[in-house]
Amino acid sequence: MYDIIIIGAGAAGMNAALYALRNGKSVLLFEGDAIGGQISNSPKVENFPTIPAISGSEFADKFFDQITEHGAEFEYDQVKSVQKTGSFFTVKTDYSTYEAKSVIAAVGVKHKHIGVPGETSLLGKGIYYCALCDGPFYKDKEVVLIGDGNTAMQYAIVLSNICSKVYLLTWMDKFFGDKALEKVIRNKPNIVHMPNTQTVAFHGEGGLTAVEDLDKISGENKLLNITGAFVAIGQVPENEQFAHLAKLDNAGYFIANEQDMSTSTPGFFVAGDCRAKKMRQLATAISDGALAAVSACNYIEKLG
Ligand SMILES: Cc1cc2nc3c(=O)[nH]c(=O)nc-3n(C[C@H](O)[C@H](O)[C@H](O)COP(=O)(O)OP(=O)(O)OC[C@H]3O[C@@H](n4cnc5c(N)ncnc54)[C@H](O)[C@@H]3O)c2cc1C
Repeated sequence: MYDIIIIGAGAAGMNAALYALRNGKSVLLFEGDAIGGQISNSPKVENFPTIPAISGSEFADKFFDQITEHGAEFEYDQVKSVQKTGSFFTVKTDYSTYEAKSVIAAVGVKHKHIGVPGETSLLGKGIYYCALCDGPFYKDKEVVLIGDGNTAMQYAIVLSNICSKVYLLTWMDKFFGDKALEKVIRNKPNIVHMPNTQTVAFHGEGGLTAVEDLDKISGENKLLNITGAFVAIGQVPENEQFAHLAKLDNAGYFIANEQDMSTSTPGFFVAGDCRAKKMRQLATAISDGALAAVSACNYIEKLG
């Protein structure tokens, strides 16, 4: 029986682990994909206090070392279900079952898909969601990048340093991210901004051969003959398997008490990008993780 099981080793989950361990609690942390979560895909983090610049993967590695040094137990496994029976929680993966007095879900968000023909069948065969992971496949080649926020802008810069040309397709005629990133993009000669552009289909059999776009001003469809496309149009939560434990808003995000990260199930707390909030960044994920952990510790003390 663990004191606290934490699902997700992103910034929120790892900070929850740090706070719980320093409170003397036993902690088991699950991660089903990449340690560090989303931030491990960031080429450069420049807005974390006291660290002028660090790569996302180095940030994740250092954080993971810190919590394991504090005694966190770790399982590289996807949590499939959580049930509360009496006062305790049963957490199941495909192969094992675990018990805990409290659970913190810090499960983050996943990449949003455009939902156009060809996207699913060409996934991994020319269509990608992580420029840092898959950009190097397109060294000295032309690629398309779809998106207009901070992630898309960061990816455009990463790709411009690898690829010969980056067609940056945005839904409107402006970006919705940091002005500093926009300035870098505008000064990159191999980034071609295509505003007011809607991607309507991906073409290819067994591999991407072209991206079909609608020019929303002229009303004309255009084909970009290209073998690599990166999609960065935002994220969605994947919280459905926990919906019996915590209420979800219309977009599927957990609804938590802002004061303590509690949910409608006593002992089940949430933290980070997976919950309904106004800003999803490292700073807010880490704050949520600390709050959720301290609240879980208080809850366990009251259980006796
Ligand atoms: C490219 C990029 C660049 C960014 N740059 C910055 C930046 O410079 N500064 C900044 O402040 N923020 C940045 N962000 C945002 C920041 O990364 C996130 O806000 C923050 O990392 C969210 O942390 P999280 O722990 O809530 O969620 P996530 O990082 O999404 O972590 C959740 C983890 O839970 C795991 N998980 C989910 N379900 C399960 C399950 N059932 N079982 C086991 N594990 C599970 C996932 O695999 C994931 O690793 C960036 C994001 C991206 C994508």
